Amino acid sequence: RIPWEIVLPDESATEDLGRFLAELLRPGDLVALSGGLGGGKTTLARALIRELADAPDLDVPSPTFTLIQPYEGSGGVPVVHADLYRLRGPDELVELGFDEATERAIALVEWPDRLPPRSGPVLAVDLALKPDFGPDARLARIIGGGGMAERLTRARAL
Ligand code: ADP
Ligand code: MG
Repeated sequence: RIPWEIVLPDESATEDLGRFLAELLRPGDLVALSGGLGGGKTTLARALIRELADAPDLDVPSPTFTLIQPYEGSGGVPVVHADLYRLRGPDELVELGFDEATERAIALVEWPDRLPPRSGPVLAVDLALKPDFGPDARLARIIGGGGMAERLTRARAL
């Protein structure tokens, strides 16, 4: 499918995108955040979590060492933020209880290439530096899978 491409000139644009995407998400969804270090994956996840938790000032540190960090979204929907960069292998996903933690949650996953393929709804966001558009610019390429593409198309049309 054709990705939705959007230039994010600065950090506030990335935060706006997070607030927009939060409206699409339901329990059981996975947001796959890819792109290199410093691309803005955690920044986007933080904006998503704050919107989902209805808590604009919530402290959302990078789960660099904890690997997974649970949050309570508004309406009691769990939100799980994961950074799998330091994952040592598939066994550690089991040790972390990743499947149980994310089953009924909205999962936001940095370095999602560490996960086995999945069939449920996935919103994939790739973030890349875009220096020709400015010092803080990023290019987001967004693709929906497993029913997410339709939701994304509908939301964009509003
Ligand atoms: P990652 O999780 O992909 O390694 P982070 O979100 O932790 O990236 O870091 C991104 C850094 O880049 C932050 O310091 C943030 O302030 C900065 N930044 C500058 N411009 C942007 C932008 N347009 N979107 C997101 N972050 C930006
Ligand atoms: Mg990060």
